Amino acid sequence: MRGKRTVFPLLAALSLLTFTLCLSREQAPRVISALPCDVPSDALVLFDGSNLENWQNRDGSAANWKLVDGAMEVNEGSIVTKQNFGDMQLHLEFRMPAPAVGEGQDRGNSGVYIHGNYEIQVLDSYENETYFDGQCAAVYKASPPLVNACRPPGIWQTYDIIFHAAELDDAGKVTKKATVTVLQNGVLVQDNLEISPTGGAMGNQELKKGPIMLQDHNHPVRFRNIWVREL
Ligand code: MG
Repeated sequence: MRGKRTVFPLLAALSLLTFTLCLSREQAPRVISALPCDVPSDALVLFDGSNLENWQNRDGSAANWKLVDGAMEVNEGSIVTKQNFGDMQLHLEFRMPAPAVGEGQDRGNSGVYIHGNYEIQVLDSYENETYFDGQCAAVYKASPPLVNACRPPGIWQTYDIIFHAAELDDAGKVTKKATVTVLQNGVLVQDNLEISPTGGAMGNQELKKGPIMLQDHNHPVRFRNIWVREL
């Protein structure tokens, strides 16, 4: 009995101490509203199907992509967000032209350029072979996707991208590389990968904050439901 009497108060004290330490070390995660397939309450909507007001051409002129059935379709040049973002969680949906036309890189080619610098390839890779680090969900010419999670042309697909910007010293030299994680249609396709600028982009100078660019590669790829949460 005597042993029990000393053990219980000791356990209680330890529990209280652990609880107190946890409270002091960590803040409770913010409560937000997020229904599956819906826009989180703290996200910035970059495209809701109604207009292109958050987007512009690379030279700053008005974006001219077509608005079709709640989506925007590639037209007359790549477009970039007017706003810049640092670390981010980005959601977007894309749809390949149907029926499929062309082969390899010439089928449903577009791209999501984080900071205008790092291309997550958008391509119709459904039963369409090309070089592995150029297929859909590749970090272009740097890393093939872990799996091919493509859906057929004409069916909407999703990208969920988590990006951490490169860390730079005062001279602009990279001290820690940017990283990216990508889920395509809910499937992990890039896993916390260190990345460098992929070329064919807005410039190779890595940034703390930059825009999101959607590529015009002469194919009528559509995008919809685009939102971002800066991290
Ligand atoms: Mg591309």
